[in-house]
Amino acid sequence: MNIVLVGTQWGDEGKGKIIDLLSEDANIIVRYQGGNNAGHTVMIGDEEFILHLIPSGILRSSKECVIGNGVVVDPKALLEEIQMLRGKKIDIGPHNLHISKSANVIMPYHKLTERLKEEETIGRIGTTRRGIGPAYLDKAGRVGVRMVDLLSKTQLAWKLKRHLDEINLILQKVYGEEGLSYEQLMEEYLKYGRELKDYIKDTASLLNCAIKKNKNILFEGAQGTMLDVDHGTYPFVTSSNTTAGGACTGAGVGPTKIDEVVGVMKAYTTRVGEGPFPTEVKGEMADKLRNAGPVGEYGRSTGRPRRCGWLDMVVVRRSVLINGIDFLAITRLDILDDLDKIYICNKYKYKNTYIYDFPEELEILQDCVPVYEEMKGWEIPTPEIRDFEKLPEKAKEYIARIEELAGVKIGILSIGPKRSQTIRREKVSTAKK
Ligand code: GDP
Repeated sequence: MNIVLVGTQWGDEGKGKIIDLLSEDANIIVRYQGGNNAGHTVMIGDEEFILHLIPSGILRSSKECVIGNGVVVDPKALLEEIQMLRGKKIDIGPHNLHISKSANVIMPYHKLTERLKEEETIGRIGTTRRGIGPAYLDKAGRVGVRMVDLLSKTQLAWKLKRHLDEINLILQKVYGEEGLSYEQLMEEYLKYGRELKDYIKDTASLLNCAIKKNKNILFEGAQGTMLDVDHGTYPFVTSSNTTAGGACTGAGVGPTKIDEVVGVMKAYTTRVGEGPFPTEVKGEMADKLRNAGPVGEYGRSTGRPRRCGWLDMVVVRRSVLINGIDFLAITRLDILDDLDKIYICNKYKYKNTYIYDFPEELEILQDCVPVYEEMKGWEIPTPEIRDFEKLPEKAKEYIARIEELAGVKIGILSIGPKRSQTIRREKVSTAKK
């Protein structure tokens, strides 16, 4: 059984925990888009692991992990993450980590140009400045370096020579910076190639071969649907397809091989960086949501405080539609435990009409006012509850209303960061049905 897991909001939905749960039944866990701008957090016992690039499945022994062709890889960051995990006694090597030959490489000039662009006041979109966007730009512009090129001096030389002159011209003439040295780049990136040689493979073949052998594969999405380059709040988005379709192109697996799509949603909404966020709240309420629970709403990769707001079902419904979501997993329900009133947005008021479908025009979105349904809070702690029936009645009502508005069931409820703090209502797993 092959499952795609996606975030239904603007990322940081708590996907890491759900991926960790579902990977129990998976043989292979695959990242298919994004780069080390993602940050999945997994709690094992009392230890917290933050993974930026390597699929979190690596934390379970006997699982294989794939970094697919749709990912952009910063080899330096990857090697550091491998070292970090080894330092925490995680078994990791070419036997359980496979990197696509076709994945594009993040080069120092990607990071540099992104930083310089973000320092301009006009046109800022709030990136993590890790070079992800410029790397995808080069990929689409057909001037990117791929992982396999790090294994061949002639290929790397050919690609770098033809591109670096142009990059250096931009750095010097537009930004008044020094250019980068071709020799230094060659030396550094060939060294990464030597270090990563055994990890770099034809992962599309590897995955399709595993599918033929009836292995279970979990495709883990990074970021969220509203950050998808096509379907998100463009241009305030990431540079890849975070939606379920991205799993096929980003891993080299046909759509006919995907059995199920799981959407992860937070019990409220957050967003990092700039861009539209209709249900955003400010002031005391935002601080309350941001600082509740053992881990607050601060970016895993950057430490930036996240913008917080009420649950927006216009957004979640759009995600259900675009991704073809079969089941939802709701996380951080416990964060709402203390509230006496909870709000759900089901539609926007725009001029004299109501909008139920997420508008694609930023201009319209800007003027949309969320219309809320007020629900009574449960004001009972939930983190120790393990049985759905034992949840407070008001919490069950909240869940039922979300299901009604989303049009799909919630199969997994998370009421704390630990593996044990989970309620499974329906079988949502990669185990063969
Ligand atoms: P991701 O990128 O989607 O994986 O999201 P994050 O890395 O931002 O994870 C969200 C944070 O919430 C992490 O620190 C998790 O350990 C934590 N978390 C996940 N599920 C729950 C939950 O149900 N309740 C609480 N309180 N924390 C959770």
